[in-house]
Formats: sequence, C-alpha cells, structure tokens
Amino acid sequence: MQAVPKQLHIAGTWQNAAAPRTMPVDNPATGTTLCEVADAGPEDGRAALNAAQAAQKAWAATAPRTRSEILRRAHEIILDRTEDLALLMTLEMGKPLAEARGEVTYAAEFFRWFAEEAVRIDGGYATSPDGRNRHLVLRQPVGPCLLITPWNFPLAMGTRKIGPAVAAGCTMILKPAPQTPLSSLALTGILTEAGLPPGVLNTVTTSDAGGLVEPLLRGGGIRKLSFTGSTQVGRILLAQCADTVVRTSLELGGNAPFIVFDDADIGAAVDGAMVAKMRNMGEACTAANRIYVHSSVAGEFASRLTARMSALTVGDGTAPGTDVGPLIDAAGRAKVDALVRDAVDRGAKILTGGELPAGDGNFYPPTVLTEVPRDAALTGTEIFGPVAALFTFDDEEDVVQAANDTEWGLVSYVFTRDLDRALRVGERLETGMVGLNTGLVSNPAAPFGGVKQSGLGREGGRVGIEEFLEYKYLAVPTG
Ligand code: ADP
Repeated sequence: MQAVPKQLHIAGTWQNAAAPRTMPVDNPATGTTLCEVADAGPEDGRAALNAAQAAQKAWAATAPRTRSEILRRAHEIILDRTEDLALLMTLEMGKPLAEARGEVTYAAEFFRWFAEEAVRIDGGYATSPDGRNRHLVLRQPVGPCLLITPWNFPLAMGTRKIGPAVAAGCTMILKPAPQTPLSSLALTGILTEAGLPPGVLNTVTTSDAGGLVEPLLRGGGIRKLSFTGSTQVGRILLAQCADTVVRTSLELGGNAPFIVFDDADIGAAVDGAMVAKMRNMGEACTAANRIYVHSSVAGEFASRLTARMSALTVGDGTAPGTDVGPLIDAAGRAKVDALVRDAVDRGAKILTGGELPAGDGNFYPPTVLTEVPRDAALTGTEIFGPVAALFTFDDEEDVVQAANDTEWGLVSYVFTRDLDRALRVGERLETGMVGLNTGLVSNPAAPFGGVKQSGLGREGGRVGIEEFLEYKYLAVPTG
C-alpha cells in the first residue's frame, strides 16, 4: 500500500499546520484511532487561498487537452489502486469493502467523464438581430474555488467537484470532512502523480471548519463555493457567500419519498428499496426516508422487505461477508435510535431490528418499521441510518401530496408498471431527480441535484462543468 499523506497540501508541498496541531482519525467500527492528520487553522486557509490565486492565471491558460489528460491519468491510477483506496475508506468511514470498491469506481468515473468534457468547452459566434454587431461568446473558468465535502462518500464527493474544476481550469481549496480526511489526502497525492501543477489543488484538513472557512468566504478571493453537506450548514455558507457574492453550488439534505403503487412489480420494488435504503448503511442524502406503499400490497411488501433486511450481516466493514457497517459516530447512532423510539411511541410497529446492540462500534441493526404515523419525527428528518419506515396510502393524489409535503426536494422513487402514471407522478414530484422503477439515480453522466432546500445547482452530466465556467461575450461592430 502507498503511504497515506497526513499533512496539508499547499502550493504543491506537503506541510504541517502553521500552528503545528494534529487531529485524530477514528475507525467507527472499533472506536480506535487510526492515525493523526494535520489540523489546519485560519492562517493555513489563507496560505491555501494565496496558492490557489497565484496558480489561477497559468492554470486557466493550459491547453484543455493537458487538463483532460491529467484527469484521465488520475482516473487510471485510482482504478489501479482500488483495493488500497477501498480499504482506506472502509477504515475511516465504516462502509463494507464491497461498497467501498463500488465507490472507488464511481469516484474514478467522474474523472473520466470530466476528462471528456474538458475538451468540449465551446462558445458562440453570431450576428445581432439588427445586423450591427458580431457577438463572440466564450467560456472562462470562474476562478479559485472552495470545495467542501462530507464524510459519507469521501472519495466520490471529492472527484465530483475536483473533476469539473480541473476540466474548466479553476484552482481549488479542498476541505474534506474531519471524520474522513484520509481519502481526500490520498486523492490529492494521486492528482499530483497524474501531473496536476502545484497550487492548483490545495487540500486543508481541519477540525474547525467554521474557523477556517468563514474568513475565506467573507474575505474575497474565492469565486465559487461547491458544498455537499447538511441543509443547516448550507444555509450558513450561503449567507457567508453573500458578503462577496460568491457563486454557489449546494448539494444539501434529502427526505426521499419512495412510492410503491398497487400495480408495481413487488419484487423489483423490494430490490429498489434495498438499494435506496441500504446503500451506505442509509447514510446517503438520496436514501429512501419515507416509504409509501399502497395498502393493497403493503403486507406483501413489508414481509418481503423484512426478510431481506433481517438476513443482512452487520459488522466491521473489513470482515468478509459484512453487508452493513457501523454508522459514522455515536451522535449519528443516537439520532437514529431516537427517531425509531419516537415512531414507536407514536404507534409504529417494529418488524425487525430497532434495538441498540451492546459492544464497541457505532452499529445499528437493519430495521423495518410499519404503520408509521405521518406525524412521526422521521417524516421531517433525514434518518441517515438503516431504518426503513413504511407508510400506507390508498390514493395517487394523496401520496403525491404527502411526498411533496417537505422542504427538501432531492430525489424521489416511484414503482409502477403503468407508464402514464409513472410519467404523471414523476412530473409532479417536487424533486430534482426521480428514480422510475429503480432505487439508484447517481451517475456521473447525469445532472445530480435538488430543488427547494435540497440545494442549488447540479453536479455531473453536461451541466456539471458549467457550474465552474463564466460566460463572457465580446461585442464587435460589423464593418
Ligand atoms: P454532517 O452533519 O453530515 O457532518 P455537515 O454539513 O456538518 O454534515 O458537514 C459537511 C461538511 O461541512 C464537512 O466538511 C464539515 O466539516 C463542513 N462544515 C461543517 N460546519 C461548517 C461551517 N460552519 N463552515 C464551513 N464548513 C462546515
């Protein structure tokens, strides 16, 4: 295994924090500390911004093909190191190795996609309607970007932001979540090996995100924020961005409805629910949070889902055969437990799981709750854990209204064999993405993102690079 860097990466050099502090990285399966990494302060944030600003002009002037080739090489190195990167992710984050390997492929795919996009940045040349001017439209990189990533997909959330920024010609500061800095540091090393010039990507790990980020956003110099995390922190950052009118992309929380109509293929719906609920132990903003099942098929769906959920093996993600790893930390587990207790107090029934296990690690069992009342706290809260909450409905209008009755709008899932219904309901759901007869929507080639308080902007797809580009137009009188 390659040695994993543990220092800050600023202006092309690995270095300790200016005030030489470190912070621990813990294994959520055991509670033990894996290692210490540099713990940056505001002065390191400033140094990273200086480096990003200094590198911006030359980086913007590189040939698109050069930027594309760096991403292509990084894509290959990531795939070559799948086993090392997967193990690192499992150790710091907890997901089972099989899922970590899947994330490595998914993460690498963003680099391949944006390697292909880097050479397709186009412009326009037109005559104004009155014939007096030529309009020349070009695209330029927005400038130094601040990329803030969460702990649940430590590698893919990095590549999803770094890929388009590199392709567009932007320099960056990457601030990963304090729980999972190692994947981001390893990724930084890979991009350096792939030929990314010094100062283009500056990676700062810190235990004091607010202390480092606020002066950067309020101080000027950052031209773009791309953030993935909670709605609560997204709101704070949006307010800070207002000071210097920083462009923002926010990918925030979700509260996904998962709707199973009476004409659905129940086997396919159960498969879809397993993916939409259990991917990443339920620690995903796309996780099915409210599962609405038509009352005529509710019993069958519940018993088939319960059989699948209770057959899963919970354990250390590095152990062979583990399906479900630990949650990220004790606070995450306590929140899941409190939501289950609240639902049960209000009348929900536990079909499997629901009990906190004894012993080390932040484990929580796969749980199915049925007859969940619509006023349970989990209807308005991201569960972020392996708890399937089943509600029943009788009528299409009612379920669409219930699904939309939330401030979030990231993704929804619909299972039906009626094409008209699928399209009608898909169009009415107030979410940025809809899975029709599938429990997985994430794909680097598709525009990922939400409406309402789930965020601003899109990542991936053709639009992903646009978030890192500005339009400029030159008006030239016709001779
Ligand atoms: P979660 O609750 O899932 O950890 P957060 O929104 O708290 O989600 O964290 C997502 C990312 O935002 C992490 O990198 C975290 O360090 C960062 N973060 C948290 N609070 C702030 C803040 N006040 N300013 C800037 N970044 C923050």
